[in-house]
Amino acid sequence: MSLVLLTSCSTKVGQKMGLSEPTDDEINSVAVKAYEDIKKKEKISKNKRLTKMVERVAFRVAKASGENFNWEVILIEKDEPNAWCMPGGKMAVYTGILPILKTEGALAAVMGHEVAHATKKHGKQRYARAVRGQMVGMGIGLAAIVGGQLLCKTQKCKMLSAIGGVAGAFAVTFFDRKFSRSDETEADQVGQIYMAKAGYDPAEAPKVWERMGAAGGKAPPEFLSTHPASGRRKENLRSWLPEANRYYQNAPQQYGTGENI
Ligand SMILES: [Zn+2]
Repeated sequence: MSLVLLTSCSTKVGQKMGLSEPTDDEINSVAVKAYEDIKKKEKISKNKRLTKMVERVAFRVAKASGENFNWEVILIEKDEPNAWCMPGGKMAVYTGILPILKTEGALAAVMGHEVAHATKKHGKQRYARAVRGQMVGMGIGLAAIVGGQLLCKTQKCKMLSAIGGVAGAFAVTFFDRKFSRSDETEADQVGQIYMAKAGYDPAEAPKVWERMGAAGGKAPPEFLSTHPASGRRKENLRSWLPEANRYYQNAPQQYGTGENI
């Protein structure tokens, strides 16, 4: 109840100050700030072959989405199986996920999924709450950060909350992504279409789940934290293959499974 009151109160204060719900542009510019902080703090890979691969996959998938974001991607040198795309198109891949994926096509499947979360604006209300909290006043902003810290499980998340301010509140919310079951299913389906349009064999998408299983369940945290069981997701991705294949056949160029990693 108190949360409801607090929210409605902050809205009133915000209106008085001429502030309304943050727009997509405002959320995106906060994401850019958080991304710049991450680029300063993380080690960027110097592996030219892998960096080139990550760039071509990410930009092909981004282009296939048809969204006009300011796309950017970095390869972070870290033994952690992770990949993400912020609202507005700032992406990252961690070196730790590459040996698990095994092919460029499987990386395209993961990037398709992450890009779909951004283009379909999943989690937008949570980001808006964190951003608005900072815009309206420190009270709510601190609540967003403290709330985020309480939910933080990883060192990374704790570190990010130290960014502070509006970008920090955003980062905490972003890295605590808990998408709904329907959001995950949509990202799986839309992501598979993006990878197919980008020219990668969509049959690699269900195989991602097999490979993550074979690697002892290693998967990006947001893949693991969600409800649909991996077997179910694999079956879904298989059942969507006929539709995805139509996009693949119409792609300007077909790369198959791409290079092996
Ligand atoms: Zn997801």
